[in-house]
Amino acid sequence: MATLELRPLGNTGLNLSCVGFGASPLGNVFGQVSEEDAIASVREAFRLGINFFDTSPYYGGTLSETVLGKTLQALGVRRDQFIVSTKCGRYVEGFDFSAERVTRSVEESLARLKLDYVDILQCHDIEFGSLDQIVNETIPALQKLKEAGKIRFIGITGLPLNIFTYVLDRVPPGSVDAILSYCHYSLNDSALEDLLPYLESKGVGVISASPLAMGLLTENGPPEWHPASAELKIACQSAGQLCKEKGKNISKIALQYSLANKAISSVLVGMNSVKQVEENVAAALELMTKGRDEETQKEVEAVLKPVKNQTWPSGIQQS
Ligand code: NAD
Repeated sequence: MATLELRPLGNTGLNLSCVGFGASPLGNVFGQVSEEDAIASVREAFRLGINFFDTSPYYGGTLSETVLGKTLQALGVRRDQFIVSTKCGRYVEGFDFSAERVTRSVEESLARLKLDYVDILQCHDIEFGSLDQIVNETIPALQKLKEAGKIRFIGITGLPLNIFTYVLDRVPPGSVDAILSYCHYSLNDSALEDLLPYLESKGVGVISASPLAMGLLTENGPPEWHPASAELKIACQSAGQLCKEKGKNISKIALQYSLANKAISSVLVGMNSVKQVEENVAAALELMTKGRDEETQKEVEAVLKPVKNQTWPSGIQQS
């Protein structure tokens, strides 16, 4: 039987499952999820070969971390069998990337996750802070936590792609191990592609999140808070409708599109049920064994062409 592919993350030595488990839904970000469903989803993910779990203190106001921690403990899996990333600097109370706050934040996350260390600690949505503070204060503080063994690797996350080059051009080589980009490598927006050679040249690992464009590329559609324009929402809805009429599933086509680029180590999908875990792993295995449904993908891309790479503003403007 085919197993889920593992891919190296930059120079870290970590091998991430190509489908990663986005745990923001465990913080009820996309609607209520019972603890039972959360535990069952994570258990099924492990069983099917997913070894990478991403959370943040921001998701559900710490709820996602707490539920993931409980779940990992309940499953009793050996610590070296799974990779956990969490984040710092973004909280329901607001943003704070100061050395003092992020240092305290890691201790708080470790307690909620019931872990001695996290594998990847990421500065969360840095476009909302001062990028110079990230370079001069936050990353050096995380470096100290790395030396203390509280975190193994350091990452940065956010929506605009220029934040990554800004930071990576200014930090000492090797001090940022990975980036997490979201909503920029899916059927409707593949802007991340242009940055991949630069990231490879820097030896920085690439995690791409939100292959379903945070719900735009699902039959149920996006949540109320989704920031896309009405034009983009309508185009994605039409693409979903086209798939449905052909007896196809837009989410499968979208996930396979994101997974096909091997320069991306892991594609993080938000999952909140056993069914979604099974569908997403099956889509990855089908891609490996049978390849993509190129015909439907082309038709969907044609529908999405007028909104290709359309995004939305995020963060404070940096001059
Ligand atoms: P996503 O594109 O993965 O979409 C998630 C939505 O799709 C949820 O409503 C989920 O229930 C649904 N879904 C999942 N599988 C499905 C399937 N097979 N069929 C139908 N619907 C399905 O967006 P996301 O959850 O925002 O992103 C994934 C993860 O990436 C997050 O959970 C988080 O861990 C991470 N992320 C990080 C950042 C950041 O650091 N700034 C931003 C976005 C996402």
